[in-house]
Amino acid sequence: MQYDYDDQNIFAKILRGEIPNTTVFENDNALAFEDIQSQAPVHVLVIPKGPYVSIDHFARDASIEEQADFFAAVAAVCDKTGVEQGFRAIANSRTHGVQEVPHFHLHIIGGAQLGRMLPAD
Ligand code: AMP
Repeated sequence: MQYDYDDQNIFAKILRGEIPNTTVFENDNALAFEDIQSQAPVHVLVIPKGPYVSIDHFARDASIEEQADFFAAVAAVCDKTGVEQGFRAIANSRTHGVQEVPHFHLHIIGGAQLGRMLPAD
């Protein structure tokens, strides 16, 4: 699998400080910020700071430190947003997954009862 990272994607611009964001949490290797088109009371995106296109790219090529910091950020977001009653974590990936921004991001969505992940039929 070949992963071609486009450094002009909008999350790369956020990481370079070229576009503002509402930061929820940050550590050395990850950033979490509010989704600009929130789909629930809680809708936060967690991204690695490194140039990874998708979750499988990150899983294959990110260092142990990058992976640890990414999941530490996920935990911090869960703590800060108060999703004790549950949430959904989504990583849309490439064309079939309808990924719009080609920089790996995990949606953390919650704060209310969610519908089914996919249509029941
Ligand atoms: P996806 O379809 O998984 O690639 O989702 C991309 C997400 O990025 C969408 O939920 C958008 O609302 C969100 N998004 C796009 N631009 C921004 C931005 N500048 N700041 C925060 N979220 C954004």
